[in-house]
Amino acid sequence: MADHDAIIVGSGINSLACAALLARGGWNVCVLERSATLGGAIQTAELTEPGYLHDVFSAWHPLWVGGAAHAELADELAAHGLEYLNTGHPSATLYPDGEAAFLFRDADANAAELDRHSEGDGDAWRRVLDGFLPTADLAFGVLGTELWSREGLGLGIKSFRRLGARGLVEFTGNVLTTSRDWLTDNFASGRAHGLLAPWVLHTGLGPDAATSGFMTQVIAVAIQEGGMPIPRGGGAKLVDALVALIREHGGVCETGRDVDQVVVSGGEASGIRLADGEVVSAARAVIANVTPTQLYRRLLDGDLPADVAERGKRFRYGRSEMQIHFALSEPPRWDGDERLGRTAIVHLTPGLDGVSRAVNEAERGLLPAEATVVVGQPLTMDPSRAPDGAGLLWIQLQELPWEVKGDAAGELETGAGEWSEDLRERYADRIQARLAAHIPNLESSLRRRVALSPADLQAANINLQQGDPYSGSLALDQNLLWRPFPANPGHATPVGRLWQIGASTHPGPGLGAGSGTLVAKQLLKEPLLARARKRLRR
Ligand SMILES: Cc1cc2nc3c(=O)[nH]c(=O)nc-3n(C[C@H](O)[C@H](O)[C@H](O)COP(=O)(O)OP(=O)(O)OC[C@H]3O[C@@H](n4cnc5c(N)ncnc54)[C@H](O)[C@@H]3O)c2cc1C
Repeated sequence: MADHDAIIVGSGINSLACAALLARGGWNVCVLERSATLGGAIQTAELTEPGYLHDVFSAWHPLWVGGAAHAELADELAAHGLEYLNTGHPSATLYPDGEAAFLFRDADANAAELDRHSEGDGDAWRRVLDGFLPTADLAFGVLGTELWSREGLGLGIKSFRRLGARGLVEFTGNVLTTSRDWLTDNFASGRAHGLLAPWVLHTGLGPDAATSGFMTQVIAVAIQEGGMPIPRGGGAKLVDALVALIREHGGVCETGRDVDQVVVSGGEASGIRLADGEVVSAARAVIANVTPTQLYRRLLDGDLPADVAERGKRFRYGRSEMQIHFALSEPPRWDGDERLGRTAIVHLTPGLDGVSRAVNEAERGLLPAEATVVVGQPLTMDPSRAPDGAGLLWIQLQELPWEVKGDAAGELETGAGEWSEDLRERYADRIQARLAAHIPNLESSLRRRVALSPADLQAANINLQQGDPYSGSLALDQNLLWRPFPANPGHATPVGRLWQIGASTHPGPGLGAGSGTLVAKQLLKEPLLARARKRLRR
């Protein structure tokens, strides 16, 4: 008799969504998490000062709220206390000259805003929407379908029937285009380019990478239609609700349980061995939310197809990231447009070329001279996260190297190239000075700053290898049809009943829980008769 139907290694959003869906489907699930808290890259903590609730890593939930798992679980999660807040001011870009451009939740308002910067760009926005919305189901279908499966084939056939051969080629070309090409083809104004280009950083890409144009469109439309939802009280409220739901359906979620090996018998996964030697068995599936490097270097050994094992071990990571959290005694007072103070996410950048330059510098091992600063302001929606009258900022820097070869600004001594505490703080000082130039009361109201370097990210979560927030480069050969890597795309592994989920797998990073949902749905489809037979065999 096995201990559980399914064991899920790790407790990231993909694990919890997968476990919740399986548990509701009658499976006896067990989530095993190596660290002391559940949720992976979703953690809420009083990181700086008492009363200041910081989302330590991820913070913004449009992908979750727009995703398939949320569609299925929303009511039950709400019953467990999860409440989403949203805003009419989801995003803006602030340029060094103090001018700002805004993205709203309304097509007409966005068209008017783009026209404000360059007459005619408003019509261009409407043309973009008219072109995108009729094929939105196909675009989102690419991100919500197991591509190497009957459903993937079905999506291909549906696209062919709808668009014809030529239309399909055009659609595919549109998926592959770069953000730079798409933006400059469609909009005249540099302000429009700079408003949308930084969003590709949130998909792990840069504006000159293949597929970044497609991701720019998907995100721009998703923000207009869905805003920038966050849970009241912090991201961890989503984790709490999912865990409560799993437990309500008889599932188990445990922390401090480091899975060291997948136990394989007769070519099939039958359970896992923990680092302390304990074996936990699973009758129907082991679902590993781990990176390919951990899966093929640590959890699996023995008889594996050599090409798969080798390629898995050589899976590549993307750029590194740093977080900076500010606790302020009063709200930040932005210079210039007062709407900046009401906007959930403000990107501070010179624009498309600025993002491109910073990405390129990071990819060449340099600290960027003028990084794109992502300024998150959760208090614009949820004042409960700080003491009355206080301020709090969530800062993300997505253009950093893992091995630091130098400083593009020629200012910081980077030593041996490792992320020391000293380098982290001096780089954070540079970012703080950039912010202070636009937020005059930043330094006078600063109560405490906590910065997390790429090394801190890796230490906090083994899936954030090399401080890559997206658990693997999203270069084309590791993206979409090829994710996690071409020798073994999709979620099935060479070992029977062993599945891989998580940000390293299709549809990639973010809180959409896409991979966990795809695998859960696949497992729940198992015919009743086969399930009954398996139960009898146990
Ligand atoms: C700083 C930062 C900011 C981000 N901001 C956003 C955002 O605002 N919005 C958004 O949509 N996305 C954001 N992302 C991306 C998003 O958070 C991640 O892509 C997503 O949370 C990854 O979820 P996951 O299911 O892949 O697993 P993870 O969240 O990576 O969790 C994996 C868990 O598995 C555990 N684990 C791994 N190996 C083992 C093992 N052998 N045994 C036991 N446990 C194990 C780890 O300890 C970890 O807790 C951000 C990411 C980071 C790092």
